[in-house]
Amino acid sequence: MEFRKLAEYYDRLEATTKRLEMREILVQLLGEATPDEAQRIAMLSLGKLYPPYVGIELGMAEKLAIRALRSVTGASEAEVEKLLAKKGDLGLVAEELLSKRKAQTILFQEPLTVDQVYTTFERIARETGEGAMENKVKLLTGLLAKAEPKEAKYIVRLVTGTMRLGVADMTFIDAASAVLGDISSFREDIERAYNITSDIGLVVKLVKVGGVEAVRGVRLRIGMPVRPMLAERLTSAKDILDKLGGKGLAEYKYDGERLQIHKDGSRIMIFSRRQENITHQFPDVVKKCGQRLSADQAIVECEAVAMDPDTGSMLPFQELMHRRRKYEVEKAVELYPVGLFFFDAIYVDGEDLMNRPLPERRSWLKEVVVSDETFGLTVAKLVEDPSDLDSFMQRAVEDGCEGVIVKDVSPKSVYRAGARGWLWIKYKRSYVSKLTDTVDLVVIGAFHGKGKRSGWYGTLLMSAYDPRSDTFKSVCKVGTGFKEEDLKRLKAMIEERVVRERPARVDSLMQPDVWVRPDIVLEIVGDEITVSPIHTCGWGTIQPNAGLAIRFPRFTGRYRSDKGPEDATTVDEIVEMYRSQLKSIVPEEGEAL
Ligand code: ATP
Repeated sequence: MEFRKLAEYYDRLEATTKRLEMREILVQLLGEATPDEAQRIAMLSLGKLYPPYVGIELGMAEKLAIRALRSVTGASEAEVEKLLAKKGDLGLVAEELLSKRKAQTILFQEPLTVDQVYTTFERIARETGEGAMENKVKLLTGLLAKAEPKEAKYIVRLVTGTMRLGVADMTFIDAASAVLGDISSFREDIERAYNITSDIGLVVKLVKVGGVEAVRGVRLRIGMPVRPMLAERLTSAKDILDKLGGKGLAEYKYDGERLQIHKDGSRIMIFSRRQENITHQFPDVVKKCGQRLSADQAIVECEAVAMDPDTGSMLPFQELMHRRRKYEVEKAVELYPVGLFFFDAIYVDGEDLMNRPLPERRSWLKEVVVSDETFGLTVAKLVEDPSDLDSFMQRAVEDGCEGVIVKDVSPKSVYRAGARGWLWIKYKRSYVSKLTDTVDLVVIGAFHGKGKRSGWYGTLLMSAYDPRSDTFKSVCKVGTGFKEEDLKRLKAMIEERVVRERPARVDSLMQPDVWVRPDIVLEIVGDEITVSPIHTCGWGTIQPNAGLAIRFPRFTGRYRSDKGPEDATTVDEIVEMYRSQLKSIVPEEGEAL
């Protein structure tokens, strides 16, 4: 496919904010592509080259892209800067500069193809070490020299990581289902394949190669992370046990980082909750798993918790963040060793365990994990009585955990990849002491600070995620809980993500000073949830023409960089929290006041 054609599709996608139209455009686009092109187009449209677990990103620095642009167009630095200040987007600058150049040079050139652009991007991304910058600029210059103005716009946006089409993995899941025919009949198959491969490009390719049969034939593969199973939440031990049919396995909910560990002989790979390959952050875990996971091949999940090496007690979540910085890993391994608490086995030596009930998966886990003091299964207890559950919860909190997760143990208790459901129910300490639990919300806008905060963003517009419409719905404005260092850090994070118009996936009646591409997830705690005429979260669910808002929201200091925007608290969870808050105020029928 010619890249010009893809650029035309991108123009059409950019021009609409309607989900249905977007899907239709993608269906046409995929219809015109070969299977390999479809895979590449899916990744490019999401602003990526590969799925997250490959760990290679395009993101070329803006100043390098400017160098390439100048060498192709002969524009001066001042000219580029002036245009950039006016347009606020290097893609548009490239389009304009190239449109001036084009008249003399375009005539006898071969058109660029999607494959050419993609493989050049691959080469740019893989350039490292000495001379890498120069080579990147050269490669991009070569590409821009062959590009038409409209193509240049998207080449520059893609290469600098600033694509803003407003499509996400979910949009492609819908589009891929629609390519097969009726969305509702095929969505489940597409989602299943996506949830066990974490690779939407591969799924789109399979749709094109072999239709639904190829998609259904997808199997777990070591080295490809499975999207995580997630928990719902409830606020009383009785409700939890009722929901689980009278009994459940209560496990400590450790406050650390979720790791999915893949073992293939002597090779150990570690994936984050967002399916990134984070093996390099945990050399100690790699070593230990090599020694203490007895299976030859396995996919298991655990929570890694930072431990105090002197006392052996668990440390707060934040201590693990030291491992994010490359040069600090070695030091962090020494200062903050981790304890590993395993809670699931998804695959062991040729056995796909996803459709087996939890008790069976846990037995496999016991077989595979050779325990020692800081390496073992989660503390767990089968509970059938609410008071038993409450005292187990108490013990978990005393031992330094956030609370417990109570899990279904019936024959239907399979591993549901990529889904938040009632097979796991979390029950946290904060539910009992406060009205609402913490929530993880996505920044969608920001307001300039005043007075002491001038020069910073003083208040942020926050949203919850609605998986049904794949949109972010506003739920509160948060302006408290920020320390000076947070204001600084957030300013930089926001500036990287500012967009000129409301992003297509954002649903908000409120107009912030700047719109922010939904990407930053922050932990927020509030006092209560109220009905609100200005926030769109849960619009019309509780009252017509009103949504829900979090009152007195505060930033807890916790950046949830382990979560993508689609992993944030959902609209349904907020609605559920509102309802359970009411239940705790209004006595149930027959109860004494
Ligand atoms: P939170 O924000 O509370 O960490 P979350 O959205 O990341 O929640 P949930 O599904 O709500 O995910 O809670 C499950 C998370 O709790 C897992 O992703 C995992 O990191 C952590 N966890 C700690 N202990 C356990 C356990 N025993 N079983 C399953 N998950 C556990």
